[in-house]
Amino acid sequence: MPESIPAELVALRQRAEQFASAVLIPAQRELAEGRALPDAVRGNVTRAARDAGFFKMTQPKNAGGSEAGPLAMTVVRDTLAGFNTGLDAWVFGPGPGVLSGCAEPLRSRYLLPLLNGEKRAGFAFTEPGDAAHFTRAVMAADGSYVVSGRKSYVTRGGDADFLNVLVDVEGEGRAMLVIDVHAPGVVLEQRFDSLDGSHHAAFRFDAVCVPADHLIGRAGEGMPRALRQIGDTRLAIAAKAVGLARWSVEFVRAHLQAPHHSGVALGAREGVRLRYAELRIRTFAARSMVYRTARLAEAGANVVNEGIASKVYATETVGEVVDTAIQLVGGNALIVGHPLERLYREVRALRLAEGASDVLRLNLARGSLDLNLGVL
Ligand SMILES: Cc1cc2nc3c(=O)[nH]c(=O)nc-3n(C[C@H](O)[C@H](O)[C@H](O)COP(=O)(O)OP(=O)(O)OC[C@H]3O[C@@H](n4cnc5c(N)ncnc54)[C@H](O)[C@@H]3O)c2cc1C
Repeated sequence: MPESIPAELVALRQRAEQFASAVLIPAQRELAEGRALPDAVRGNVTRAARDAGFFKMTQPKNAGGSEAGPLAMTVVRDTLAGFNTGLDAWVFGPGPGVLSGCAEPLRSRYLLPLLNGEKRAGFAFTEPGDAAHFTRAVMAADGSYVVSGRKSYVTRGGDADFLNVLVDVEGEGRAMLVIDVHAPGVVLEQRFDSLDGSHHAAFRFDAVCVPADHLIGRAGEGMPRALRQIGDTRLAIAAKAVGLARWSVEFVRAHLQAPHHSGVALGAREGVRLRYAELRIRTFAARSMVYRTARLAEAGANVVNEGIASKVYATETVGEVVDTAIQLVGGNALIVGHPLERLYREVRALRLAEGASDVLRLNLARGSLDLNLGVL
């Protein structure tokens, strides 16, 4: 539970709170008042996060990072999200993702530059069409791959230097390949923004030649590697979701205690109290679940099912909490620029990114019924 964490994590939480107050809140104000361009503000946040030691928490020790465990990461993500600045994504450095533990030459050419911020990566997993047209790779006589197909939803793909692409290698099964965005045959078909304000791109691969040593790990193990990366991200999303839910409940609490134009504070009305209680119940349950999962992960348990449960429950909870918060605050909450208006858009994406809720439910049922995994 968030209450019974060791002293060093209590200190870490305090550092995260100080960072949010000293860096994130002023940066958010600068943005809201139009005093600086978004890229400059984000760059300043990242620089301050490096100085404060948060940037490297997501990066492995053997590559110069400080690699915090799942519980410490949960504490920091929950804490920062609890300030609802929309800037916490710029606090942490890129993790190794599917390149984790990769061999040379990928380590020097891609992994280390990625972690240092010299190169940017995109994760190309989602397909636009049906499975019959999955992005395919054919092995050439010299061992290189010729890749053809499409990927539809690569976050920050428009700014990426390279893509980690899930392909179906003829006769070998699924594999992850590193593909340089400037390689001949790589076509950036579309750049687009989603409702939450994040940027994405769609790519086409027209017989792209990929060197044999751009294979991450082994052919045939691409899917588990990709799913491991997605699985690791689920607890991160869940921790952020409960931080945002907490912020929303506190916002509503202040609103219900303030004077209301009806002459009676909203918090005095029974119907409103019932709604408010429900927000607290759901947020309490979601936050408890996320911290329990983080503890299990910290102890080395397989938390695939608990990570799924936490991601689904926390993201659905924050969706409902923000929706009800808007209802209780009223029309002002819908004015563009209101913190709940931005949050409403931001949290909607969380139920699709890194696995749609119902698809995750099916995975969880499979984990339990077919593989006998998971705890209650
Ligand atoms: C903000 C954001 C960032 C993203 N970033 C990336 C990225 O960096 N890289 C990447 O590759 N992708 C990314 N995605 C894509 C994301 O992974 C997919 O949107 C998600 O997995 C759902 O796939 P889909 O959009 O193809 O929808 P579909 O797979 O078509 O699913 C749509 C709906 O159909 C239903 N459904 C689908 N399959 C089943 C089933 N088997 N059984 C029952 N119901 C089912 C569910 O209700 C589901 O919500 C991102 C998405 C978002 C919103």
